[in-house]
Amino acid sequence: MSSLSPDLFFDSKTKSRIRRRLKNWFAKNQRDLPWRKNKTLYRIWVSEIMLQQTQVATVIDYYKRFMREFPNVRRLAEADVQQVLKLWEGLGYYRRARQMHAAAKVIIEKHRGRFPRTFDDVVALPGIGRYTAGAILSIAADQPLPILEGNTERLFCRLLAHDDDPKSAASQKMLWEFSAALLPKTAVGDFNQSLMELGALVCTPKSPKCSDCPIRECCLGNLNSVAEQIPIKLNKMKYESVVEAAVVVTSGKQVLLRKGQPGERWVGMWDFPRYRVTPDLDLPGQITRDIGCDVQNLERLCTLNHAVTRFRIQLECYLTALSNPRPKSKLKDYRWFSIQQLPDLALNVTARKIAVKLATR
Ligand code: SF4
Repeated sequence: MSSLSPDLFFDSKTKSRIRRRLKNWFAKNQRDLPWRKNKTLYRIWVSEIMLQQTQVATVIDYYKRFMREFPNVRRLAEADVQQVLKLWEGLGYYRRARQMHAAAKVIIEKHRGRFPRTFDDVVALPGIGRYTAGAILSIAADQPLPILEGNTERLFCRLLAHDDDPKSAASQKMLWEFSAALLPKTAVGDFNQSLMELGALVCTPKSPKCSDCPIRECCLGNLNSVAEQIPIKLNKMKYESVVEAAVVVTSGKQVLLRKGQPGERWVGMWDFPRYRVTPDLDLPGQITRDIGCDVQNLERLCTLNHAVTRFRIQLECYLTALSNPRPKSKLKDYRWFSIQQLPDLALNVTARKIAVKLATR
């Protein structure tokens, strides 16, 4: 199958048939999700940001908690970013939370606290791209804007039997045009949601359920028996294994934490001092240099394995104490906290596991 050009999009009769079938299918099969009730621009925005790179099942509880804490954009803007990160803890990709907080402030300052209603204003907000702006405005305000994200990209490629790299500039242009050409005149939000829902439930990444699909008779991937091979897989992520060390430094009943700085992983979140383990790392010496105070022998605490972007990390965790009284001068980026304070802090996922271990020792 060669790739299709936009000129070969389905004729208007087929497009009408696709819309009609999707509408009926969505009415019967859509999942009952909290952001599908009482749709407002703010609520859809929060759900769309949380759903980026994250499974629906994971998002549901985070979304409910977030809405209880920040029911509107003003409450979000007035919150401390640490409070927002705390609610985001465990959801990953923390940049999303920081950008939402920044966007809420822009909405208060530039748009008098009202979520903007034009594409240009929405896409100008921190953390919002073309897809998210289209999704928010179509789903919450029924504006005729196309969408293209993971589920719809895969669905369209199969529907069109498009076997080129879907991420190439030419494919992206064609797929966006196709998405726009398929839009109905009314109920655009439901239509866009039906595309994503079909991609999530039926036209799944592996083994699409073509026999259950409401648009199988229009689908070139199905009709040509190539659905499973589309989209083609390119540049599979190469993972890198690394070993890191996290050190719990205690002083009396307090532990030392370091806040993630711009350019690092987990910006704004607290973590135990963490180091990449290399053959020439002298861990106690490095800690001493960083905090300006000698530490006692390291005691092994546990090993945690986790993944961050392309890294597969084996994290060796240690416990130590200061050898001398704590220096009076404040350490840049570091702070001492009691173990009782840890539940209230925004910690990254491994720091949280270590904190739980400390509390139960
Ligand atoms: Fe996807 Fe199969 Fe439906 Fe085509 S028929 S859209 S490949 S599930």
